[in-house]
Amino acid sequence: MLNFDMTIDGRPATADDTFDVINPSTLKPAGRAPNAGAAELNAAVAAAKRAFATWSQKSDAELQAACEEVAAKIGENAAELAEVITAEQGKPLNGLGSRWETGGAGAWASYTAGLSLPMKVLQDNNEGRVELHRKPLGVVGSITPWNFPLLIAVWHILPALRTGNTVVIKPSPLTPLSTLRLIQIMNEVLPAGVVNVVTGDDREDNLGALMSAHSDIRKIVFTGSCATGQKVMRSAAETMKRLTLELGGNDAGIVLPDADPKQIAEGLFWGGFINNGQTCAAMKRLYVHESIYDAVCDALVEFTRGVPVGDGLDEKSVLGPVQNRMQFDKLSRLVADAKERGEVLLGGEPGEGLFFPPTLIAGLKNGDPLVDEEQFGPALPIIKYSDIEDAIAQANDSPNGLGGSVWSSDVEAARDVAKRLECGSVWINKHGMIQPNAPFGGVKSSGFGVEFGEEGLAEYTDIQVLFS
Ligand code: NAD
Repeated sequence: MLNFDMTIDGRPATADDTFDVINPSTLKPAGRAPNAGAAELNAAVAAAKRAFATWSQKSDAELQAACEEVAAKIGENAAELAEVITAEQGKPLNGLGSRWETGGAGAWASYTAGLSLPMKVLQDNNEGRVELHRKPLGVVGSITPWNFPLLIAVWHILPALRTGNTVVIKPSPLTPLSTLRLIQIMNEVLPAGVVNVVTGDDREDNLGALMSAHSDIRKIVFTGSCATGQKVMRSAAETMKRLTLELGGNDAGIVLPDADPKQIAEGLFWGGFINNGQTCAAMKRLYVHESIYDAVCDALVEFTRGVPVGDGLDEKSVLGPVQNRMQFDKLSRLVADAKERGEVLLGGEPGEGLFFPPTLIAGLKNGDPLVDEEQFGPALPIIKYSDIEDAIAQANDSPNGLGGSVWSSDVEAARDVAKRLECGSVWINKHGMIQPNAPFGGVKSSGFGVEFGEEGLAEYTDIQVLFS
């Protein structure tokens, strides 16, 4: 059993109560986490506020060095962290699973440590000097989801620290263990109070709601569903908090008639099924030109059929279970409905426990629930189109705008289509590939603000212009 304390003000902290964290592969408890409430949250925010007084005064070089130490610590503990992620999240150790996630977390942390936002001189002449300074905000509240619990925690925490802020993080009740352990590890090298973690089961005291309303938190960085993001936004208005909202997506991929079905099959598979489809920027709708529709369906079925699904701790597994019952039930409902409307090419029947085979369904169209709703699981509807203008219109016919992709042998033609998709990231012949130097964020209902790169770093600062 994995039982970790919270860390508040550099010290282990417990709550009166704890809650079970379930391993989705076995449906048995993976561990327990403290069920904290307002008192623990207030202590964490107060600690972060005290720590801010000195942390915010550190020089750029000191902040960089501290973040580099944090990145090194993540690297040293990567193997243990990967096992914790697999135990609570279900994703395999292998493939693009938990070892990939911890590797990514280390790489992101180290890249972010090396970024900086130096003072800019906007003018320096007889009329005076004008300088643009970036100032830390104060206490940043981070609220994370269950799909990439460790990576997203690092995406939130490192840029906040690098720019002189202090942090209180609250992970999803479904995956709190890797974050609890991560914050213990970070506290081996950081001063007390700089990064604190609180966990709760969301039933009585909803810690996320308390954080969004907290008067001593200056910014919320939130990754999660659109519905919860809207609640955060409403509540943050009271205290004029800064917000970064990374919300849901329903990404479209468009395959042009000149694409080579066999060559793109593997990329299409990973675009749709990375992390079992439980990825904000996974491909959730695939539009294929009628001239190669059957060939693309065949190639995708052939590749997907060979992918091993199983317990995340089994080294052979490439995909694991769905993470939780709510998600599983939603997926089962949408796939059952889609079976009435289209043709199942592969999968389609719920398996044991929370296992659901990768599912490909042909013959659907916009307006069908599996196409329109963010189903966040291992199912991909493949939709036939005859006119590219229609395909673009259908791809854009969504309240979401996180990612999109175009697949073609002609990169220039693909770029022309890509630029017309309404989304924050768009890829040619791949989908969902993100990197720490490229800003990532959504448009429309997928949120606002970006993470990564200098643009992402800037979101953790206020501008002060100094005229002299
Ligand atoms: P969720 O919105 O249910 O929960 C996210 C977090 O919000 C959790 O920590 C939860 O405890 C907390 N929360 C619950 N109620 C709250 C409230 N009233 N106020 C503040 N916080 C509250 O989302 P989830 O089911 O954990 O994650 C899946 C969703 O996250 C999907 O929609 C997915 O697309 C999205 N997501 C987006 C990105 C991105 O970068 N855009 C990345 C990963 C996941």
